[in-house]
Amino acid sequence: MTTFSFEFFPPKTPKGEQTLWNAIRRIEPLAPDFVSVTYGAGGSSRDRTIEVTKRLVTETTLRPVAHLTAVGHSVAELRHIIGQYADAGVRDVLVLRGDPPGDPTGPWQAHPEGFTYAHELVELVRSLGDFTIGVAAFPERHPRSADWDSDIRHFVAKCRAGADYAITQMFFHVEDYLRLRDRVAAAGCDTPIIPEIMPATDVRQITRFAELSGAAFPEQLAHRLEAARDNPADGHRIGVEYATAMAERLLAEGAPGLHYITLNRSTATLEIHHNVLNSRSAQHVLAAHR
Ligand code: FAD
Repeated sequence: MTTFSFEFFPPKTPKGEQTLWNAIRRIEPLAPDFVSVTYGAGGSSRDRTIEVTKRLVTETTLRPVAHLTAVGHSVAELRHIIGQYADAGVRDVLVLRGDPPGDPTGPWQAHPEGFTYAHELVELVRSLGDFTIGVAAFPERHPRSADWDSDIRHFVAKCRAGADYAITQMFFHVEDYLRLRDRVAAAGCDTPIIPEIMPATDVRQITRFAELSGAAFPEQLAHRLEAARDNPADGHRIGVEYATAMAERLLAEGAPGLHYITLNRSTATLEIHHNVLNSRSAQHVLAAHR
């Protein structure tokens, strides 16, 4: 079965809250397989993740997946959060190690009574109840991995610790996803890896993408978005076209689903999703960007 899912982040302001819920209400009728809510670096944004996730259970027909990271938490705190989710009827957790707050590329420091790697949190969640567990995968390899061998070895160990599926970091070259999938399969692991689709509609986003994910951005696509810098409608069309073509090819290559990053807005993602549902012939767009 092919899954379709959408990712949101916890909003900071009442206006942001309104934008998020507008997007949720537009996406709900599509009956996605799940929607996920990211987990912030600390403090109130974490409480908002928990609030939004619980509200999704009580006020919508959607199946929420709660992202959870080990950053700054003792094992006791992590147990408490997982217990809160279980009490609220949340049965799906995307388990992550997380990055150091402040500078995500800075040295990792585990909480003195916490975890160092995601597989430890996978084991904890698995031990606490009947949860469906997702983990992160990296088509361009995790930035902290010294080489591909160790990256794949640790990914496979994380899956074997109890993950049901993985979702990738954003990426812009389908081949990176396919190579990762082949490497994982060659290591004897068949955990489904769902590709993440990020609509890139504005040249000003590109630097931010690189900072967030290290994802290599296609030069041709960057040039086209640069030419559309002052024309948002063109940028939107170019980004939607490229993401549609990627999504089409990923499904044609047997990807088990698509996980759309919404940035709490629904327009671009919904267009891509409708295109994907209605067309299977967008390969020339990708070829033109190589
Ligand atoms: P791990 O699997 O622990 O891997 C981290 C590094 O350690 C890798 O290099 C790995 O190879 C290495 N490693 C793992 N095990 C071992 C071991 N036993 N010995 C030595 N090395 C090891 N971050 C957030 O803060 N909030 C979010 O909501 C969030 N959502 C995300 C959603 C997705 C789909 C993705 C792909 C990422 C998300 N992130 C989020 C970012 C993520 O937390 C970071 O990328 C983080 O650096 C890696 O997390 P991980 O779970 O893959 O860590």
